[in-house]
Amino acid sequence: MFSFGEFFEAQVQALRREQRYRRFRILGRRAGEFPRARLAEPDRPPRDVVVWCSNDYLGMSQHPTVLAAGHEALGRYGAGAGGTRNISGTHELIVALESELASLHRKSGALVFSSGYVANDTTLATLGRNLPGCTFFSDASNHASMIEGIRRSGAGCEVFAHNDPDSLHRLLARSDPATPRVVAFESLYSMDGDIAPIPALVATAKHHGALVFVDETHAVGVHGPEGAGLVAQAGLLEQVDIVQGGLGKGYGAVGGFVTANATLIDFLRSYAPGFIFTTALPPAVAASALASVRHLRQSLRERRTLFERVTAVRSALELAGLPLLNSESQILPLIVGDSAVCERVADRLIDVHGVYLQPINYPTVPRGSERFRITPTALHTDPMAEALLVALRAELLREDIVRAA
Ligand code: PLP
Repeated sequence: MFSFGEFFEAQVQALRREQRYRRFRILGRRAGEFPRARLAEPDRPPRDVVVWCSNDYLGMSQHPTVLAAGHEALGRYGAGAGGTRNISGTHELIVALESELASLHRKSGALVFSSGYVANDTTLATLGRNLPGCTFFSDASNHASMIEGIRRSGAGCEVFAHNDPDSLHRLLARSDPATPRVVAFESLYSMDGDIAPIPALVATAKHHGALVFVDETHAVGVHGPEGAGLVAQAGLLEQVDIVQGGLGKGYGAVGGFVTANATLIDFLRSYAPGFIFTTALPPAVAASALASVRHLRQSLRERRTLFERVTAVRSALELAGLPLLNSESQILPLIVGDSAVCERVADRLIDVHGVYLQPINYPTVPRGSERFRITPTALHTDPMAEALLVALRAELLREDIVRAA
């Protein structure tokens, strides 16, 4: 008989051998204190750390307005939504959130999902499964959630070179113009921090009559007018058919969404299993997300502070000769290039310096480009940035990744 136990054990051991076994840090984030947090691990005394690897870029997860909205909704409506949207979970707060997101993107419709992952996966899978003879044109660096949705859809898929409109053009030119083609890419890539050439990609897709889907998970809230993202910043909301966004990163809550014209949204609402067959977002989450979106539509303060901080940290690390990728965004990847070294450095950063940076290993990034993904937030202070620099310099010198000046 098949030994399930041996199978699972062997799979996990293989990850250990390859130095890519995932170790989770047990992190107690405390409202009002982020980016300070407390690491509580079973066999070690609790340690206070400064978190440098969060996607809570603007600190909205603890913004007083966001917390107040969540508390109020929790008290008023209770914890759970009580059902799927179809059956009993279409809460007025979710409707209000969708209406706010549609207005943010100047679209006639929006649909909220339980996560950004689900928004990508189920939207793309639903398009691919239902559009007759559909082919996707997918950027080579697209997120796992997009790849998974495309794969599960059973539709054809051509992968274009990362951020390369010419490569996209060549593939589209070979395709049958009578068939539905969907171009899918991210506006801001979360591991390299680079930004897509949105105007050129959109123009290429539109030239060939393709539908355009853009993942703005890491851009909404943080970039563009009213925090609408990079497509809005490029003035291309009308040309991009589907804008996907996350509520769990810049907006500090959880969930995902797409905005599009009302007919396309109605189609997704009616055909997407990952939307239909799952319990709706809890009212408190919808309320917090809504408060966060509304706040960031009219406040520039958080974004200004974030980008001042990002510029300061980037220049300090570059000046110290640390191997930063040349990113164009709030994400600063520091390349270590070896998973074992990454793990060792991460342990010492915590144990010696109280700095929490999570190693990013294969398959999240290609082998040989293992890294730390440093994400300054609007809430990091100058002394925290100084301590990060000292800690990284010391530990990377120790590993011979940087040389003494
Ligand atoms: N899209 C991109 C580009 C991401 O980086 C992520 C997650 O990190 C997601 C989608 C999924 O978003 P969520 O965490 O809301 O599920």
